Amino acid sequence: MRDTYRHKGMRRKLVEELREKGIRDERILQAFMQLPRHYFLDDAFDEWAYQDKPFPIGNEQTISQPYTVAFQTALLNVEPGQKILEIGTGSGFQAAILALLGANVNTIERHQELSEKAELLLGKIGIKRVRCFFGDGYVGLPNLAPFDRILLTCGASEIPEALCKQLKIGGQMVVPVGDKVQSMYRITRTSPQSFEREQFGDFRFVPFLKGKAGQ
Ligand code: SAH
Repeated sequence: MRDTYRHKGMRRKLVEELREKGIRDERILQAFMQLPRHYFLDDAFDEWAYQDKPFPIGNEQTISQPYTVAFQTALLNVEPGQKILEIGTGSGFQAAILALLGANVNTIERHQELSEKAELLLGKIGIKRVRCFFGDGYVGLPNLAPFDRILLTCGASEIPEALCKQLKIGGQMVVPVGDKVQSMYRITRTSPQSFEREQFGDFRFVPFLKGKAGQ
């Protein structure tokens, strides 16, 4: 794994592109500048790693488009020290961005291979504060709940009830909801029984599927 001047140059351009597309939070842009996205992709995509596009990561899954990662991260209002639950580890890129913002991240993936690969990579590049779990995101992590923030990086057909219950009071969840196209929602738990929702733009995600893969 090498992070060359060329990679850094391409990364700087990507960060400028994100800024032009409306990402204004300097902490988020800095995290993107710090994190070599090409480490999270197959060597074959080295040249393309800094384009604002999703790419295949195996097991029919994709690493999200950088703009989408930045947009979801911005909606999540991350503060250092927060306890976050991410559903859909995939490559581990989004989890690493949250960790670089100072959060403690627990991330679940239903494909064992992806989960193990992400865990290994994050260890190698020295990202602390991320714990990887192989499991079913529909269940969440009830033993570690409640969470300050919950982030789904796969498209849910409806707002996942079980996960709402794993939010702290005042906690927030960002979740793309819809079948072919997903609307981005931010859910805020305002009391034990009440939740407020805000709706943002449309995105396309791989689906939130029930159960661990292959079982
Ligand atoms: N955050 C990832 C994006 C991965 S795409 C990244 O930064 O690379 C979404 C991921 O959600 C896929 O890897 C998919 O396998 C996973 N997923 C879908 N349904 C799931 C479920 N029920 N539990 C856990 N992970 C799930």
